[in-house]
Amino acid sequence: MFLKPLFRLLAPERCHWCRTPLHGRPVCAACEASLPWNTSACRACAQPLISVAGTTVAVCTNCLNHAPPQDRSWTAFRYEAPVTQQILNLKFHGRLAPAHVLGTLMASKLATRPQPLPELLIPVPLHSARLRRRGYNQAMEIARALSRRLSIPMPAGTAERIRPTREQTELSAVDRRHNVKGAFTVNPIARGRHIALLDDVITTGATLAELARAARKAGAVHIEAWAVARA
Ligand SMILES: [Zn+2]
Ligand SMILES: [Zn+2]
Repeated sequence: MFLKPLFRLLAPERCHWCRTPLHGRPVCAACEASLPWNTSACRACAQPLISVAGTTVAVCTNCLNHAPPQDRSWTAFRYEAPVTQQILNLKFHGRLAPAHVLGTLMASKLATRPQPLPELLIPVPLHSARLRRRGYNQAMEIARALSRRLSIPMPAGTAERIRPTREQTELSAVDRRHNVKGAFTVNPIARGRHIALLDDVITTGATLAELARAARKAGAVHIEAWAVARA
């Protein structure tokens, strides 16, 4: 019972990437600065934007033509090394440490933003059969770190995946939309609330968009879509 905290005191924590000893944070300042932060991105879909000197483009051409159902999207990173490997480890190799590291890095950025934070955090749910097979939900693991650090409640069972879907990574953009259509329900706790949906990666955005539609149907008034990284 006492051994773990004692061990922590004697053995300093180390940077997740370079193993430099450090206290109270998972990543050292040098590694943190070298990560592929998604600093200039479309506010509707989080697609990285090429910033043109002197101009501020807030929304990409795709979103100007077809606005996504969520009010805003945000990811901490672009889907590039070394973030890519961390997400693959988390998603397919049962390694949960990256969820804590990535969630903590996301939280540190979100904590400094000027806009108010959401009142509820809703990780993209897995279907119960897949959750049983995998043993954990990677989005839920990331959400735990965010919820704790930002004090945003994450009530269990707010969203459900009501039918099994194929793994999105196997599918084309059009098939991804069909694959998740009608797959989610969100319970009335979201009514009248400002919420954030959370996934590990935004690729085409189909999964978060479909969950956003379900949240809107449940009465959520302001919907943000968050992820660790944007492909
Ligand atoms: Zn480091
Ligand atoms: Zn966009």
